[in-house]
Amino acid sequence: MKIAIIAHDGKKAEMVQFLNTHKDILISKGISLVSTGTTGQKAKSAGYEVNALKSGPLGGDAQIAALVAEGKIDMVIFFRDPLAKHPHEPDIFMLMRLCDVYDVPLATNPSTASLLLKGLNL
Ligand code: PGA
Repeated sequence: MKIAIIAHDGKKAEMVQFLNTHKDILISKGISLVSTGTTGQKAKSAGYEVNALKSGPLGGDAQIAALVAEGKIDMVIFFRDPLAKHPHEPDIFMLMRLCDVYDVPLATNPSTASLLLKGLNL
């Protein structure tokens, strides 16, 4: 199972905290992680193995959107910062749209992401 993780700057610490909280399930389910660039660097620094693509503003969200369209992503965890402006807003909407087009589970906050991961254990 492959999960994409993306966190805007104001949410990166929350993403690392989220990964740490759910470390057991990530390991026991053999989940592999793919991410945007800077999110991936943060996760790597925290000890996770991550395939980090380009940084979001440089096309990372678009790369993940393409993987969704190709059927290569099983879940997207995308901690957006709703209080910040983003130069790559079109890419962000494209990613979320394609998750809906291909019916890929998409969590945009930790509470929802936690429920999705717990759902893997059912
Ligand atoms: P980043 O990209 O992980 O490279 O910061 C995330 C985003 O801004 O969409």
